[in-house]
Amino acid sequence: MTDRYAVIGNPVAHSQSPMIHAEFARAGGDDIRYEKLFAELDRFRDVVGAFVKTGGSGLNVTLPFKSEAFRMSDELTERASAAEAVNTLTFRDGKVYGDNTDGIGLVRDIVDNMDVSIAGKKVLILGAGGAVRGVLEPLLAEKPAALTIANRTLIKAEALAHHFAPWGECRAVGYGELAGQGFDIVINATSTSLNNELPPIPEGLFNARTLAYDMVYSKGLTPFLRRAQSENAGMLADGLGMLVEQAAESYFIWRGKKPDTRKVTHMLRDLLS
Ligand code: NDP
Repeated sequence: MTDRYAVIGNPVAHSQSPMIHAEFARAGGDDIRYEKLFAELDRFRDVVGAFVKTGGSGLNVTLPFKSEAFRMSDELTERASAAEAVNTLTFRDGKVYGDNTDGIGLVRDIVDNMDVSIAGKKVLILGAGGAVRGVLEPLLAEKPAALTIANRTLIKAEALAHHFAPWGECRAVGYGELAGQGFDIVINATSTSLNNELPPIPEGLFNARTLAYDMVYSKGLTPFLRRAQSENAGMLADGLGMLVEQAAESYFIWRGKKPDTRKVTHMLRDLLS
């Protein structure tokens, strides 16, 4: 029987997940069906329930339902439990298993695809929203020398630093406090690039050894990556690799197979250009 999966969100029409998973399945010779599921804001559990009843095996969860997916999980992995957010649901033997693959997706893109070690590095993450919550535990597990969270609303960065203290030390700062500091890895996890804007970073964060990483992916360079380029950052990357890697980890959770991500990333890159 064909195994069924889907991505659930609101909105969901823009999601690349069906294309990515279809490609993983095609390359691996797997027989799966992967759909898009739209849920009204107050109907998440109903839509999930109907999907499970009709034989659905797993769901990717996107905005704004990651917290609700966390709450409806019977069992959680440590990284999902730390994030208090779930992007991968598995339905097995009447139970709901919740995981969060966003952080491992980011780490694999940096460490495996770009061959950049996070261990011992000075890492700066910009933003303190859902994306940062999803990636902090896997980033801290790589043992950076220091991890700084900068956010426009300082109290949100402070709350994250406090919440993740059991997994490692994070320093929460406002953008003004970044003046005069340099970093080995700077990750833009704000939504500014979606509006073609730059987070209010001071000059001088980047040097020739810095990896500048924007979680948003786009056809050309985002304003953040243009700024990093103008300051001669050593490496520039957008979030397309993270998107594909987090999907690959979901695929692995569901099917026990690690897909070849490079081919799919290249295919999506071609489609973007
Ligand atoms: P949220 O809405 O939860 O958080 C947005 C963050 O951006 C907040 O920290 C907010 O600061 C900050 N921000 C927004 N506008 C500005 C501005 N003008 N100046 C400074 N800071 C600003 O979004 P998410 O955390 O869920 O997502 C962030 C980005 O990451 C999105 O663009 C998303 O597309 C991307 N993403 C990419 C993934 C991938 O696989 N590549 C996976 C997940 C996310 P404040 O708290 O002060 O409002």
